[in-house]
Amino acid sequence: MAVPQRRTSKTRRDKRRTHFKLVVPGMVKCDQCGELKLAHRVCKVCGSYKGREIIKQ
Ligand SMILES: [Zn+2]
Repeated sequence: MAVPQRRTSKTRRDKRRTHFKLVVPGMVKCDQCGELKLAHRVCKVCGSYKGREIIKQ
């Protein structure tokens, strides 16, 4: 089995993790309910888009 030749330094390890984000980019908070939703898409929680385009319910 392959084994790392040397220990990964803290700097190198942390640099690698700069790409780790809490949420996927493109996720924004819904104006209506505050839930995370995909930008430019209707909120699946409350069905609103751009303030007051309510779909279903
Ligand atoms: Zn919403």
